[in-house]
Amino acid sequence: MTNGKLMVLTGPSGVGKGTLVRSLLQRHSQLHLSISVTTRSPRPGEVEGQHYYFVSRNQFSEMIAAGDFLEWAEFTGNFYGTPIAPVKQQIQQGKFVLLEIELEGARQIRNTFPEALRIFILPPSWDELERRLRSRGQDSEEAIARRLQRAKEEIDAAGEFDFQIINDDLAETLKRLESVLFIPG
Ligand code: 5GP
Repeated sequence: MTNGKLMVLTGPSGVGKGTLVRSLLQRHSQLHLSISVTTRSPRPGEVEGQHYYFVSRNQFSEMIAAGDFLEWAEFTGNFYGTPIAPVKQQIQQGKFVLLEIELEGARQIRNTFPEALRIFILPPSWDELERRLRSRGQDSEEAIARRLQRAKEEIDAAGEFDFQIINDDLAETLKRLESVLFIPG
């Protein structure tokens, strides 16, 4: 895996990673988003193979045993993993591959793929993060509480990343992200 680049985007649930990733993909055709596998149920509007590959816990375990994942982790009761084959293939083709993953997975990538660029997205404030998580209206109160607890742990680890970017204003955040993602070399 030498030609392309692997980029990891991490940040607490509700920080706006999804919007940032969509904007980046629209603006930069050389960027490819890795589609993860998850045991979470699809949210309304989520499409198989576009947002995630949705699998059962048994299927996920079989994929772990088969060595199908570049990294995987449990997040608030569900499993998430990055299929290794498409990432390898795209990097060998010289492409830029973006992973949008949580903290444990990002730590695994640091060990297995130290040349990957790792970026942490921070909310402007704790209150704002809570407001954004609730305003999505997609998760139960219990799921929101678990995500907020996990968000605290993730934010504490932001210093482990190569770059930390505060998502206050979308256009500004995009500019900052582009300036670190597309550093030559
Ligand atoms: P959500 O359920 O909101 O789609 O995702 C929950 C968390 O799982 C997010 O922080 C997201 O970045 C992370 N995630 C999504 N796919 C993967 C993956 O393949 N591996 C890991 N480690 N985390 C993932």
